Amino acid sequence: EIQVRDLHKSFGDNQVLKGIDLEIGRGEVVCVIGPSGSGKSTLLRCVNLLEEPTKGQVFVGGTELTDPDVDIDAVRRRIGMVFQQFNLFPHLNVTENLTLPQRRVLGRDKATAARIAAENLARVGLSEKAEAYPSSLSGGQQQRVAIARALAMGPQVMLFDEPTSALDPELVGDVLAVMRMLATEGMTMMVVTHEMTFAREVADRVVFMDGGVIVEDGSPEQVIGHPQHERTRHFLSRLL
Ligand code: ATP
Ligand code: MG
Repeated sequence: EIQVRDLHKSFGDNQVLKGIDLEIGRGEVVCVIGPSGSGKSTLLRCVNLLEEPTKGQVFVGGTELTDPDVDIDAVRRRIGMVFQQFNLFPHLNVTENLTLPQRRVLGRDKATAARIAAENLARVGLSEKAEAYPSSLSGGQQQRVAIARALAMGPQVMLFDEPTSALDPELVGDVLAVMRMLATEGMTMMVVTHEMTFAREVADRVVFMDGGVIVEDGSPEQVIGHPQHERTRHFLSRLL
């Protein structure tokens, strides 16, 4: 579903991605781990062209995003993204947060958008917060709203960039539970995370990045349980 080929990204002289090759099959959950500054966010942002790669190709659902002739807005609609910061619209209530992008971007009518919003709020367990404003919600609830908002767009793949890193520890579990549910339902997911328990239990594959390259790519059992490279071992030892 997602293919990355020989992806390079530089910011000026700073070579951040130095040739990334990655394939994520339909329904696969891939967790990306690695030290700060290794290029994890940049990789994720290149997968939906929030950053323009310096070199290389990205395909999502068979469409090449890096083709200059591609309708990038059309492709981006198929990609849901959830960030560390929830980025909800503060002046809109929860339902409006979910309906506005559906109406603006997909052109859905009001009733359809509202129905799909309600369905997705129920999926993340927040039906009772439909009328609430973001500022009245906990961080975990805000993040679940952000996930519901992305899901309401009907994405083919979901990208998560450290979705629980800004949360108080007691709120992390609810967000991870929603992500587990999505994984079980067969969503194709690419998740940058420091949650090793989640990676071990939910990921089909774990990718360890360091210095702009993929150092290891394998099952959680291989990469977390039996890392082959010193750099991976060093990184993991500091997390435990
Ligand atoms: P973290 O775990 O801290 O989130 P990361 O692995 O996500 O780190 P990136 O955010 O991808 O790392 O950043 C990798 C490198 O790219 C860093 O050196 C950063 O300074 C640089 N970088 C990222 N975005 C930009 C940008 N928009 N302009 C210039 N440099 C950038
Ligand atoms: Mg990052």
